[in-house]
Amino acid sequence: MKTILIIGAGASGLMAAICAKTKTNQVIILEQNEKAGKKLLLTGNGKCNLANRDDDPACFCGPEREAIETVIGRFGTAETVRFFEDLGVLLKERSGYLYPFSGQAATIVNVLLQTCSHLGIAICYGIHVASVEKLETGFRIRTNQKNYSADAVIVATGSKAAPKTGAGGSGYELLAALGHSYESPLPALVPLISSSVYCRSLMGIRTDAVLSLYINKRFVAKEAGELQLTEYGLSGIPVFQFSYLASQALERKQPVEVQVDFLPTVTKKQLEHKMLDYKMRFGKRTLEECLSGMLNHKLAQVLGKASGLKNSMLLNTLKPEEIQVLCYAIKNFHFPIMDTMGFDKAQTCCGGIFLSQLNPETMESLLVPGLYITGELLNVNGRCGGYNLQWAWATGYLAGTACAQLP
Ligand SMILES: Cc1cc2nc3c(=O)[nH]c(=O)nc-3n(C[C@H](O)[C@H](O)[C@H](O)COP(=O)(O)OP(=O)(O)OC[C@H]3O[C@@H](n4cnc5c(N)ncnc54)[C@H](O)[C@@H]3O)c2cc1C
Repeated sequence: MKTILIIGAGASGLMAAICAKTKTNQVIILEQNEKAGKKLLLTGNGKCNLANRDDDPACFCGPEREAIETVIGRFGTAETVRFFEDLGVLLKERSGYLYPFSGQAATIVNVLLQTCSHLGIAICYGIHVASVEKLETGFRIRTNQKNYSADAVIVATGSKAAPKTGAGGSGYELLAALGHSYESPLPALVPLISSSVYCRSLMGIRTDAVLSLYINKRFVAKEAGELQLTEYGLSGIPVFQFSYLASQALERKQPVEVQVDFLPTVTKKQLEHKMLDYKMRFGKRTLEECLSGMLNHKLAQVLGKASGLKNSMLLNTLKPEEIQVLCYAIKNFHFPIMDTMGFDKAQTCCGGIFLSQLNPETMESLLVPGLYITGELLNVNGRCGGYNLQWAWATGYLAGTACAQLP
């Protein structure tokens, strides 16, 4: 009988446990919280967006491309769907995003826990792992309670994102003590804080927009979707998608700016023509009345003011150069970015343990045989849309399956 010890009862740890259990493997999960899957329960606003129909490796960000492609090539969306359907979960899809049909993340946590229980996997709660020591054969695991011995260890402790779920980042230190190195974790899928004087007036607005990220005044990324303007800055899926790049640049102390196109359906030229046309046809309307026909009312007021114009001015008094300034502001509104909202508000982290130190077919450490590493702890961050859970399922599956085949 071999003992496989898993640190962390989150998405990747539970997956790894189910895959590692065989007649000749005893599987034990050590979890510091009083319950399993605390982060999983928060996913997708409590609905758990567990994968995406489009599992293009480009949706998994990180510099070690070959390893990422190997992992997702071995366990992609089709495998995730089959795994959960085999456990009796009915799924549904919205624009490619996959969820449990129940609309409840608890469905996923419950089915994973029921499966662990039926397979005889032990989950020990309230156990914080302090260190993992490689012995001549096997491992010694020291915890806040007793010590454990194991033939193989899977470290599935997650990242530093969302500390209220128990994410303290202890996995990085556990692995560093075993010789692993990592890119410092930084907040990703996180709102951005802007110093723009207009944030307060724009607070509460949600609008479709196209956002461009500039680092050191150079264009870096473009995202479209629903922008949420908040008291402190920018939020919403398009912001989340490139937030890890902003996070990395801010860490390097580089200037970061987001440029927002509030009317992406027309070009600047078309908008200027439209404004000239409105000026002729609706000359007695105020600027505010005119812009309110195109944009969110509060946004229209701010855009007029930010262009140095009075919202009460009549359209027939607008000079051509004023129309140009206004159209530029609508199409290129600048938000200087000072910071992210930090790990507290981050859904994941960029950075983590280098994949080059693992075998991507098994997630086994190349430095410490018998040690496996899964999930968000690794140097990969998924886009919004189920990619972080897909990564957790895939790496958990590969590590667990490799442990199931231990001689
Ligand atoms: C608000 C929010 C919404 C999200 N929504 C989505 C979504 O819809 N789709 C998606 O794909 N991703 C989403 N994510 C990201 C996703 O939840 C994570 O990527 C995924 O849970 C990571 O799995 P993991 O196994 O690596 O770590 P986790 O699920 O975080 O599990 C790690 C476990 O290890 C335990 N642990 C840590 N250190 C120790 C220790 N020393 N000893 C013992 N136990 C320890 C922790 O308590 C925790 O239970 C969301 C995240 C957040 C915060």
